[in-house]
Amino acid sequence: MVRVVLATHNQHKAAEFQQILGDAVPGLEIVAYDGPEPVEDGVTFEANALIKARTAAAHTGLPALADDSGICVDAMGGAPGIFSARWAGTHGDAEANLRLLLDQLADLPDASRTAHFTATLALVTPEGAETVVQGVWPGRIAREARGGHGHGYDPIFVPDGHDETAAELGPAVKNAESHRARAFAAAVPALSALAAG
Ligand code: IMP
Repeated sequence: MVRVVLATHNQHKAAEFQQILGDAVPGLEIVAYDGPEPVEDGVTFEANALIKARTAAAHTGLPALADDSGICVDAMGGAPGIFSARWAGTHGDAEANLRLLLDQLADLPDASRTAHFTATLALVTPEGAETVVQGVWPGRIAREARGGHGHGYDPIFVPDGHDETAAELGPAVKNAESHRARAFAAAVPALSALAAG
């Protein structure tokens, strides 16, 4: 059994990870992290995921898994991107963030509203081995917020292959298809290798 600390204080994300992980990696136990949170001053998802994973690994002495994620709108050159959590100015004000994004895109027709969620996962061992993987969930920005599931930008993101927003589709679809699910699938080989010792 190998214990891996999940370097996020975000309860939504931790719950998604637990659900997605399931028994995909036998012998892996995910534990919560309550240590210090570093300043996320990287300018890429990868840099910020590595900053968080390195801090958690150093603080706990355990292998650490960290995620950095956001929404990228093609017409905005990939913004909000790494600024997704504080797009409207206040970190974590999800309602204000999605309202601002809807306003900014108000004039754009459906064909120009393509976007994707992205999740980058960094796995860092206390010995300093580092693995980085990414998952992408393509879709487009809806014209108004819809749905009561999920968090963040879920109410305005319509994944490719669906007419409903991620917040209408709910956790079963999200756990199967999302950027985080895809990033996790990409991390399974590295996690399995860790669990196998
Ligand atoms: P992080 O906590 O620095 O990774 O910031 C993530 C930001 O992207 C937050 O604003 C989230 O609301 C947004 N985000 C990331 N993943 C999702 C998702 O699955 N649904 C909705 N918003 C997300």
